[in-house]
Amino acid sequence: MTITLYPYLLLALLSVLFALSPVGLASHQSPLNVVATTSIVADLVREVGGDCVSVTALMGPGVDPHLYRASAGDVQRLNEAELIVYNGWFLEGAMDSLLKRLAERRPTLAVAETVAPELLLPVGEEGFQYDPHLWLDPSLWQQTIPGLVKALTELRPICAPEFDANAARHQAELLALHGWAQATLASIPPERRILVTAHDAYNYFAAAFGFEASEAAQGISTEAEAGIADIRAIAELVVSHQIPAIFVETAVNPRNIEAVQAAARDRGWEVTIGAPLFADAMGDPDTAEGSYLGMIRHNVLAITAALGGTPAPWPAALDAWAERWGL
Ligand code: ZN
Repeated sequence: MTITLYPYLLLALLSVLFALSPVGLASHQSPLNVVATTSIVADLVREVGGDCVSVTALMGPGVDPHLYRASAGDVQRLNEAELIVYNGWFLEGAMDSLLKRLAERRPTLAVAETVAPELLLPVGEEGFQYDPHLWLDPSLWQQTIPGLVKALTELRPICAPEFDANAARHQAELLALHGWAQATLASIPPERRILVTAHDAYNYFAAAFGFEASEAAQGISTEAEAGIADIRAIAELVVSHQIPAIFVETAVNPRNIEAVQAAARDRGWEVTIGAPLFADAMGDPDTAEGSYLGMIRHNVLAITAALGGTPAPWPAALDAWAERWGL
């Protein structure tokens, strides 16, 4: 009798010990149900939250967050979320009042609003206080991580060691990416470092990487239409600075940038349209560009190729990531 009972007792003892260990407790709790607005915010939460979170992004590839309106299904998902994470600073303009109402009754975090305002660029456009496109400067984006760790840890204290370790790893990755982007973009001749894009998302990028200016056919939001005078003024800038390439974006209609190209041609300057940039949305989830690291890599390489620079060696800290995508 004792011989047959012994293995069961041992198993029971082991399972009690396992349940009492931090690893056991964490795995017995279901992952924190996080609903994020943009794919970029969702990527950040997945990187930092790891196995302790389950993240749903409301906006997929090619979706413009300035204009996006929550569907009935989205509202239900948001109401069931244990944590709502959004960018903030009016990026999600059409969802702004809904997100503020939800924040009164559910744990909600606007990651971009956790960064010290003195590091941000004020803007005068209607509805905005600061330019919300922080993620286009990786060193600034990594500053959103401590606020995210704090919010996640409050809701899943048992996962604190995992959140801290993931945060340290991802911050190091973002800083390595930033260093590589800086070295790569510095290879573009200074007189060509003027970036013309579909909407005004690249001001942090321009400031971080030594671009003289970032000009856009549409404003900080894509809501206001570009006027003929705006198109003409940008075309004149392109012609007078002999800018070789201008850029469309994956989530913005290319017609304004095509109009700038046509207006420059009328003035005798042939400007090419570079590979589409990712600004407010990432690429398809099963591609490298469907991750934050991959979308920034793509943008930096596309801008460097079109404006006549040479890529710097890829950082060793991001080798494992690149190998995963066969890059
Ligand atoms: Zn935008």
